[in-house]
Amino acid sequence: MEKESLMMELTRLVQTIVKQSSWWEKRGVDCSILAAAFLCLPPAFLLLSSPQLPLFSLGVVLMGVSHGVITIKGTHLASHGSLSESQTWAKVWAVFFIEICGSFSSRAGVQGHIKMHHAHTNIIGLGDSSVWKVPSLPRSIYLFIAPLFVPIITPLVAISHLKEQPLAHIARTVLMVSLGLYSHYWLLINVSGFQSTVGALLCMLVCRGMFSMPYIHVNIFQHIGLPMFSPTSRPKRVYQMTNGVLNLPRNPVLDWIFGHSLINCHVEHHLFPFLSDYMCLKVKPVVSKFLTEKKLPYQQDSYLSRLRLFYHKYQELMVFAPPITELVGIQ
Ligand SMILES: [Zn+2]
Repeated sequence: MEKESLMMELTRLVQTIVKQSSWWEKRGVDCSILAAAFLCLPPAFLLLSSPQLPLFSLGVVLMGVSHGVITIKGTHLASHGSLSESQTWAKVWAVFFIEICGSFSSRAGVQGHIKMHHAHTNIIGLGDSSVWKVPSLPRSIYLFIAPLFVPIITPLVAISHLKEQPLAHIARTVLMVSLGLYSHYWLLINVSGFQSTVGALLCMLVCRGMFSMPYIHVNIFQHIGLPMFSPTSRPKRVYQMTNGVLNLPRNPVLDWIFGHSLINCHVEHHLFPFLSDYMCLKVKPVVSKFLTEKKLPYQQDSYLSRLRLFYHKYQELMVFAPPITELVGIQ
């Protein structure tokens, strides 16, 4: 009883901040960042038509960054329905961001991220992040080479998720993913003036894969290696999330492309998944102070330190089954 009230106490503190926040703070800031990413696309396509190497390279970087913001931050917020208060619009945004921009199935994305990862964070066999494990790959290939092929692997995984889905859903996903990929290709040929199919496809791969290495890293760094729980003796939510989630430090590139909820406010995001990136940052001081005062874990580690850990303990973390943690005496 006393333990359950810890989460209620923290929720009350966070709700007070949310109630005092404006629309701009709740949604406006993050929607503006996404809009800015879309506004960067026309100049990026035009820069890619330049015969001068520095301008062409600038186009590649601009398109890669915009694509990263839209497909990492955008798809994540859209999967949570955080981009609109209306349920219908939230669904439209999920299809737009996840299927057209992200080349993935909206239904599989929401199912995997919201209904499994968030609902069952670090519960073995449910939300244990094992979908990210490819034990057959050696560590250097998994950590540094395979991520470069994420833009090719993503639509293939989406297709594998379509089995046993209603026909209308399969047709929509195939249509939307094809629309996203083909319009990108068409614009490279017709606006940027690419002469060859291979060149345009290569440019798509480079731009779309620019941040897939940190994307894979961030997904494994923040949960794997932390306490994992058995589905039959799950800890209370506040213990599950504070033990099973880790924050990475702020970094301007990752802040913009991934959003605070995936980087420096991942703990806050798992405790309050309905909050936007900006709101996670706003409640962070209150959440971290509360957890520290109540002697609950508030786990933080640097990107390089996690990378070193995963490189040196790859077998233990990414190949072998994780050990189960029992939180004795605090439940
Ligand atoms: Zn999330």
